[in-house]
Amino acid sequence: MKHKGLLIVISGFSGAGKGTLMKKLIENYDQYALSISMTTRMPREGEVDGREYFFSTREQFEDKIKQGGLIEYAQYCGNYYGTPKDYVEKQLEEGKDVILEIEIQGAMKVKEKFPDTVLLFVMPPSVEVLQQRLVGRGTEKEEIILERLQRAEEEAEGIEEYDYIIVNDDLEACVKELHELLDKTHESMQEQYHPKNYTELIENIRAELKSLVKGEK
Ligand code: 5GP
Repeated sequence: MKHKGLLIVISGFSGAGKGTLMKKLIENYDQYALSISMTTRMPREGEVDGREYFFSTREQFEDKIKQGGLIEYAQYCGNYYGTPKDYVEKQLEEGKDVILEIEIQGAMKVKEKFPDTVLLFVMPPSVEVLQQRLVGRGTEKEEIILERLQRAEEEAEGIEEYDYIIVNDDLEACVKELHELLDKTHESMQEQYHPKNYTELIENIRAELKSLVKGEK
C-alpha cells in the first residue's frame, strides 16, 4: 500500500481513556481520520451503528474476513473486532493521518504489514484510576469489568512493543502532546528522501542501465 498519510495505531487498556482522547484529537485537528471498526459485540447504550462501530453478526464478520475486506482482526473478550480496509486506504491516499484504535494483537499485525505504522500506547496514570474509570462508565457488568482488567494484565506484557507511551492524566494536555508527537513523527519520516522526489534521477538511471545491459554503451 503506497500512501501519503501516516498510519497510527492507538492501544491501551479498556478504561484508559483512548476513546475520549481520540474524539478530542479529531475535533481539534482536521488532519486526522478515525477508522471505524467492525465488531460482533453488542452496542453499549448511546452507541450508534456506523459511528462508534459497524455492529455485525459473527456470520457477517466471518464473510468479511473471507472477502479479504479487513486489514486485521482479533478476538477480544469473546468478540471479533476488525479494521475495514477500504476506508483506511482511501483516507491515507487523500493524505489524512489515519488512526486505528485497536488492541495489541491487531496492532502487531498492522505493524507487520505496514512497518511505517506509528504504535502508541495510552496508559492510565494508575491502576486505581483505571478501575474508577471502568466502574464509573457504568456501561458494563462487574464480571465484564473483571474480564477487561484480566485482559489489561495480559496486554501490559506487550507494552514494550510500542513506539511511544502517552500517559492520560490531563485530557487537554494529552491531546496537545499527542498532536505534537505525531507532527514530529511526520518530520522525522524525512519526506525529502522519498522516491517521488527523485523521479527524474530514477528514470535516468533506469534508462542508462537498460541501454548498458543491451550493450549500447
Ligand atoms: P470496546 O469493546 O471497549 O469498544 O473495545 C475492546 C477492545 O477492542 C479495545 O482495546 C479496542 O481498542 C479494541 N478494538 C476496537 N476495534 C478494533 C479493531 O478493529 N481491531 C482490533 N484488533 N481491536 C479493536
